Amino acid sequence: MGKEISRRTFLKVAAGAATASGLIPQVRRIALEPFVRPPEEELPGRATWFASTCRQCPAGCGIIVRVINGRARKIEGNPNHPLNHGKLCARGQAGLQVLYNPDRLHNAVRQSGGRGSRIFSPIPWSEALDELTAALQSLRDPQALAVLAGQPSDHLYTILASFLEVVGAPPAVIFDLHTALDGRAECASLSSRWFGEHQLPIYDLAHAQVVFSFGANLLETWMSPVAQSVAYGQMRQSRLGGRGVFVQFEPRLSATGASADEWIPVPPGTEGIIALALGRIIVEENLGRAGKHSDHAHLYRNVSVADAAQACGLPVEELRRLAHLFAETDRPLAIPGGQLTGHTNSKQAMDAVMALNVIMRRLGRHGGVFTPQPVPAERFASPAPTSNLTEILDLVERMRSGDIEIFLIHGANPIYELPAWVGFKEALEEVPLVISFSPFVDETAVQADLILPDHTYLEGWGYQVVSPGADRPIISGQQPVTQPLHDTRSTADILLSLASRLGGAVARALPWEDEAGFLEESSAQLHDNSISTYDARTPAGFWSLWRQHGGWWSKRAIKREPEAVGMPKGAMAVPAAAFQGDKGTYPFHLMPYSSLTLSDGRGANQPWLQEAPDPMTTARWNTWIEINPESARSLAIKDNDMVRVTSAYGSLQAAVVVYPGIRPDTVAIPTGQGHSDYGRFATTRGANVMDLLTPSPAEQGNKFAFCATRVRIEKVGQVKPLARLEDLDGEGRESIR
Ligand code: SF4
Repeated sequence: MGKEISRRTFLKVAAGAATASGLIPQVRRIALEPFVRPPEEELPGRATWFASTCRQCPAGCGIIVRVINGRARKIEGNPNHPLNHGKLCARGQAGLQVLYNPDRLHNAVRQSGGRGSRIFSPIPWSEALDELTAALQSLRDPQALAVLAGQPSDHLYTILASFLEVVGAPPAVIFDLHTALDGRAECASLSSRWFGEHQLPIYDLAHAQVVFSFGANLLETWMSPVAQSVAYGQMRQSRLGGRGVFVQFEPRLSATGASADEWIPVPPGTEGIIALALGRIIVEENLGRAGKHSDHAHLYRNVSVADAAQACGLPVEELRRLAHLFAETDRPLAIPGGQLTGHTNSKQAMDAVMALNVIMRRLGRHGGVFTPQPVPAERFASPAPTSNLTEILDLVERMRSGDIEIFLIHGANPIYELPAWVGFKEALEEVPLVISFSPFVDETAVQADLILPDHTYLEGWGYQVVSPGADRPIISGQQPVTQPLHDTRSTADILLSLASRLGGAVARALPWEDEAGFLEESSAQLHDNSISTYDARTPAGFWSLWRQHGGWWSKRAIKREPEAVGMPKGAMAVPAAAFQGDKGTYPFHLMPYSSLTLSDGRGANQPWLQEAPDPMTTARWNTWIEINPESARSLAIKDNDMVRVTSAYGSLQAAVVVYPGIRPDTVAIPTGQGHSDYGRFATTRGANVMDLLTPSPAEQGNKFAFCATRVRIEKVGQVKPLARLEDLDGEGRESIR
């Protein structure tokens, strides 16, 4: 056995070797030094906790990360953060596996064998930046530069938006599947229509007495599930008005439905029709303690409760019971979102649900609906928006027709996340220069010429204006908790570096040396603000407190009352949802749903999340299809049978989970698996449900109608045992390999 090498000696040698080979990571505020001279806050063997922000989904929960000897060891919720109050979900806990993932890119690379070859050659950062600068300088038209980003940190979005504006390029398209399945764009449009504000409304779940949720999977993935779980707990333990009542309307029983008092398994696409019927009964019978409803009678004048009952398969008496349950309390609350937004009638359905809050006078009331108070500083006034499908299709069309010369992609994986019918991959082939900033080689990065890997969120700076917020304006701050593990570089720093190289107006518009400088200057806009939760005599002291707290928030709750400025003047109507595929050939509604663990697929390269069982089926490590026992019987299908699922657009194979918590006319498949690229834990595992989705019917326009596809199911004659929790050491384990 050779001579043993101590950890300290190893660190010294490693640092020396890095210096000799010119591979020193690009650091800004933290010097790379061996632990013979540890950073001031580091004591060998003693833990240091850094406050930052979870970026595993767009919610923006505050985290604290335990760091020992420069290594991040554990992530917990930040107990002082007013959004998640110290709580964290499984994805938040698994963040260390993003940082230490063995499939991360270690440096900037060129795909030397051509796009899709998966043959990568390291290139120096200076060469990558020279190439990008030259390409930008030789653009024939700045409109030929296009950017797609998936819910970027707001500091990156602000820098990116300024960069694109000053070079004359179109604004970035902001898209990722997680937010699309949330229906964020739809929810923001709802707020625009009704309240004249594009920010997401805040539903005061904690203080409501009766909550009707129409499709919003509040406790798993929708919007801010950790904050909503905390609020749900408060509602259920309410000391004042007794235990709150919760009713979930959805075709498939989610963990949220399982936590509700009542799960109403409605036919897909009828949620809005039910909401209209409830409104009609409330208005007609003058239910509730809020007074007469004559102001709102016009909204429901064309609604037939009997027709609605027939459409949703619920007896009129049942609708009447639900209307009384909702209205005969002081603090009812109706929440639209999630799967409801995936139907062709979602706009009208969401209006019908919001109208329930309006007729019960729940706007601006305790336990009702609020609009967020903007952060009182200009720098934080325009958080990243969410693009709709029309904007995405427009981008694809511009790529396809050769209008785009340079395409930059950050934080999204559209080749995997968008339905195949969008044709993103084919359109990308028409773009001369494609640059990805992904830390991993995913399906889109593998079609890029250069990959310039960003830091992971535990190594980089940032901030996020939390939306939907809690009861106050919040900026969740992100800071490096460890030095960059590899020779990666912040995308914001790349943009600032490009601006400096381009010079002139671009350099003047983006004068910061690095993103940390931008953040420090941004934080100064809130120094001396009267509502800050902390104060400091100097901006530098304020910046220090910002990092210590993990961001900024108001010291007191500020709940703004929205005004229903856009309430419909005439009668409301919710048309029947349209579906692609005729019922004879494709008898089942397909319901894709966001995986609690893998989200839209971004969690698939983290083995903790692959191993974590789905809360309703306990399945993991694979794709499954949930089928009602009655339907399974009629098709002679059992658990673990492999079936072919076919839509009018595509097909896939998946193992069956016979699931009583789903309607007989509906089947459900979680998102997240079926990667062809994305590292060793994700690839060649399961199937991608997005491959089945059809475009919404032509007359519905460009809607991301992810619930509008019908499918048929056929046995393929194989059995593939799923790895389920109850089979911990037995049958099914081999399927994870
Ligand atoms: S809800 Fe989102 S932001 Fe919060 S801990 Fe989970 S993954 Fe992270």
